[in-house]
Amino acid sequence: MDDPRRAILSTDALLADPRLDDACRRLGRAAVVDVVRRAQAVCREGRIEPGQVLDQALGTLPAYAISLRQVVNATGVVVHTNLGRAPLSDAARTALQVAAGTTDVELDLETGRRGRRGGSALAALSAAVPEAEGAHVVNNGAAALALAAAVLAGGKEIVVARGEMVEIGDGFRIPDLLEATGARLREVGTTNRASLADYDTAIGDDTGFVLKVHPSNFVVTGFTASVPVSELATLPVPVVVDIGSGLLRRHPRLPDEPDAASALRAGAALVTASGDKLLGGPQCGLLLGVAPIVDRLRRHPLARAYRVDKLTLAALEATLTGPPTPVARALESDAAALRDRATALLEALGDAVEAEVVDTLAAVGGGGAPGVELPSAAVSLPETFAAPLRLGEPSVVGRVRRDRLLLDLIAVEPSGDAALADAVRRAAKTLDEVG
Ligand SMILES: *Cc1c(COP(=O)(O)O)cnc(C)c1O
Repeated sequence: MDDPRRAILSTDALLADPRLDDACRRLGRAAVVDVVRRAQAVCREGRIEPGQVLDQALGTLPAYAISLRQVVNATGVVVHTNLGRAPLSDAARTALQVAAGTTDVELDLETGRRGRRGGSALAALSAAVPEAEGAHVVNNGAAALALAAAVLAGGKEIVVARGEMVEIGDGFRIPDLLEATGARLREVGTTNRASLADYDTAIGDDTGFVLKVHPSNFVVTGFTASVPVSELATLPVPVVVDIGSGLLRRHPRLPDEPDAASALRAGAALVTASGDKLLGGPQCGLLLGVAPIVDRLRRHPLARAYRVDKLTLAALEATLTGPPTPVARALESDAAALRDRATALLEALGDAVEAEVVDTLAAVGGGGAPGVELPSAAVSLPETFAAPLRLGEPSVVGRVRRDRLLLDLIAVEPSGDAALADAVRRAAKTLDEVG
C-alpha cells in the first residue's frame, strides 16, 4: 500500500481552493499559507485524513490579522496592566474607527489651512479640568514626566522625597527615568518622612522644580509624613505633581487618590498623569498646568518624539466627552448588584459545573488607589477550570485563591455575562473530554 500521506494536496493546490479566497483578502496570503501548512502537518502526523486538510485549515483560520486575543477580565483587578489596563468605552472604540482613515487631525476644514493638532481632544481635556490653563498630551505617563524633566530641569536638579522614588513596574524606576533626561535628583527626607523644611533646605539656584510623585502601587503606613502640594507651593520654585492614575477630579470611593483638579487648585504648576488607568482611556500621558510651562513643553523638540497619534487623540476625546467608561462604572458598582449577576450566572451554568457564588474584595489595580478594597462578587469554580478558560475563545482570566478559580464580576461588562457562562460551559466540556 502507498503511504496515505502521499495523498495530501500540495500547499499551492490547497490555496487555489476558492473557499480560502476570503481569508486571503482578510488576513493576507502569508497568514493563510501558515494555517494550511499546519493543517498539512496535522495530516502527516496521522491525526486527520488527507481529504480533511482543507476543512482543518478552514476551521483553524484566525478571526483577525493579529494574534492579540480578546480577554474577559474576571481577575477582580479593575485596571490590570497585563491585560492592557483600561478597556475603552464603546464611544472610544467607535472613535477609533472614525479616526482610522484619513481625518482632519491637523487640518482646519473651515479655512482649509493647517489646524492645531488634536485641538478637539485638548479642548475636551481643558473643559474637563478648567483649573488647567494649558493641556498637552504625550505617549504615556512616563513620557509626560520625561518631557517635564528634560524641559524644566535639564542640567539642573529635581528635588524629590526619598519615599517617592517609585518603581512603576516591569523594572522601570522613576528616578532612572528622570536622570536619563539629563536632570539630577536631589533626594530629601527619609523613606517614611519628609518635611517642608527638608525641601526648603535643598532648594537653590540649581533647582529646576520640586517633584511630588504619588506612590500609586504601594502604601506606607505607621510613622509617616509627606508634604501636601499646598505647602510645597509656598516654595519659590515650580511644583510638578505626578498623580499617576489620571483621576481628573476627586472620587468619593477613592478618598486618598490624588486628582488633577485638586493638585492644580493647591498650587501645582504642572500635573502629569496616565490616560489608561483610572481615567479609563487609551494609553497616553496628560500634562496639565499653567500656560507658560505647558507652552514651553509643547514647543520643545522632544515633544515631537513623544507625540501621540490620531487614534489616541480620538479615543481620548471620546473618553472625556462620552458616557462613563467601563472603569468608572466598575468603580461605581454595587456589591448587591454584582452578587445578583453572579447568582444569575450560576443558574445559567446549571448542574454540570460544581460552582458557587462568593463575596470578594476587588482591587483598583496597579493603576492607582493602592490598598483600596472594592466589595464585589464572584463565581467560584474548581481550579482546574483556569487553563481551559484562559485558552478558550474568548479567553477568560480569573484569579486563583485556595484551590478555587474565582471569576470576579466587577470588571466584566454586564452585557458579557452570557458569553462568560458559555465560556465556562465550554471549559467544562473540555475538562470532561480530557477526563
Ligand atoms: C503609572 C505611573 C507612571 C507611569 O505612567 P505610564 O502611563 O505607565 O507611562 C508614572 N508615575 C506614576 C505615579 C504612575 O502611577
